[in-house]
Amino acid sequence: MSTTDHARLRNLTFTGNRGLEMEEPLLFETGRIGVSGVDLDEPDEVESRLGALARAEPLQLAGFSEPEAMRHYVRLSQKNFAIDLGLYPLGSCTMKHNPRLNEKLARLPGFADIHPLQPQSTVQGALGLIEEMCRWLRELTAMPVVAFSPKAGAHGEMCGMMAIKAALDARGETRSIVLVPESAHGTNPATAALLGYKVETIPAREDGTVAAETVREHLSSDVAALMLTNPNTCGLFERDIVEIADAVHQAGAYFYCDGANFNAILGKVRPGDLGVDAMHINLHKTFSTPHGGGGPGSGPVVFSKALAPFVPVPVVEVGEDGLKLLEKRSQTAEQGGQGAQSFGRLTAFHGQFGTFVRALSYMMSCGGEGLRQVSEDAVLSANYLRVCLSDLMSLPFGDKPCMHEVLFDDSFLDGTGLSTLDFAKAMIDEGYHPMTVYFPLVVHGAMLIEPTESESKASLDLFIATLRDLVMAAQNGDKERFTQAPRLAPRRRLDETLAARSPVLRWMPPEAAQGVAQAAE
Ligand SMILES: *Cc1c(COP(=O)(O)O)cnc(C)c1O
Repeated sequence: MSTTDHARLRNLTFTGNRGLEMEEPLLFETGRIGVSGVDLDEPDEVESRLGALARAEPLQLAGFSEPEAMRHYVRLSQKNFAIDLGLYPLGSCTMKHNPRLNEKLARLPGFADIHPLQPQSTVQGALGLIEEMCRWLRELTAMPVVAFSPKAGAHGEMCGMMAIKAALDARGETRSIVLVPESAHGTNPATAALLGYKVETIPAREDGTVAAETVREHLSSDVAALMLTNPNTCGLFERDIVEIADAVHQAGAYFYCDGANFNAILGKVRPGDLGVDAMHINLHKTFSTPHGGGGPGSGPVVFSKALAPFVPVPVVEVGEDGLKLLEKRSQTAEQGGQGAQSFGRLTAFHGQFGTFVRALSYMMSCGGEGLRQVSEDAVLSANYLRVCLSDLMSLPFGDKPCMHEVLFDDSFLDGTGLSTLDFAKAMIDEGYHPMTVYFPLVVHGAMLIEPTESESKASLDLFIATLRDLVMAAQNGDKERFTQAPRLAPRRRLDETLAARSPVLRWMPPEAAQGVAQAAE
């Protein structure tokens, strides 16, 4: 917070608090060195065995009493916008309700209090739960193998692409190119680049989808894989996808599908039927587990038969004497099937187990029919928004049905002098977390809205009415409402350019920070 902001708030109240909303400094700013919530006497006559490694000076950690520590974290938690507070329409991120039943089950001691190093005979139920969740994923995707250890979608992408690389290595081939459409999420090219591939960008056609013909033009014996998102990040189903998969396979390459938008086709379309070789599934998007500050992600990857030997360990094997977790490559090699030529291990231990419990809870409480309705309702919600806003906001690909998210561009702001960012900031004053903005990059000033199936019609109607009011205000020249926004949030608009150009990534004591600032001048 800038000093002028401080001053402004100080002018408002003595403490800087507003009503019962508290200012909250950093731990380092208010804590007291040498104070601790727990006071234990120094033990006598214990000789340090750290030798030269022993700390010469006390660690400069700020301490609190227990109630102070409690308040610090509760106040911070109240500054975090959450799906439990209001509509959170971030496109592509799928911020849907996290059912409380999932939380209840994840807290059962038999799931919550186990340790990954426990003997396998004592955690047969947990292994059974992993296997059961994988069975649901296999069924829903028509893909024979699941790697469950990746800890996010991006991590799953890396997992899938490492298996593809291992498969090419096993064929004695080194291919250097990965094809990525221009509307792709940034993690796609980042993954390919991290693994040493050259990224070649594929343009979309007028309607926002990728043409099989364009893919064919880019294919060669040097292409390792195509990474394609379906439905894509414009909220559109890739209608050439089967033809694209065939062309990729004919060129000896693999088809990686970014499955972040699987929630739009759940129970309707099975990626395995489309010719996909590997696809990550964001359990925290499609299967309702908490994210966005609420909990860890989880990105299991489903694989085709062609890639099954190359998947990472661990692997759950169902045997006559119970379930076994094969944790080493030597074990899967001996076993000869799934993971026989595994590229190895991706993470310590076995992935986000608590997330598996929540995801399976969601799958089983919805059931097969319910999961189909999830995608139907998600698509219905997005199209309801599209139809109710299309007279005022601009649709880049024409007024035709979308999947689970609706994409607007900024041409409805033409002549107002306002930008997508201004519009998004004004939504904050109205109590809405803004939608995804400026992504996908293929659309100018993109606004990508994903309402999900968990919003009621009343909630959608209020959101629509709010956006309509904002658009009319923008077009009627009420510039202040936008350029000054957010006016009602604890923080006003930040200097985003300064934040991006010279980010302050580490707290320093005020004197040291001043020193650095002076040195910079
Ligand atoms: C969210 C998302 C990812 C990355 O997933 P994380 O779980 O955030 O790592 C990749 N691609 C698309 C299209 C996404 O929406």
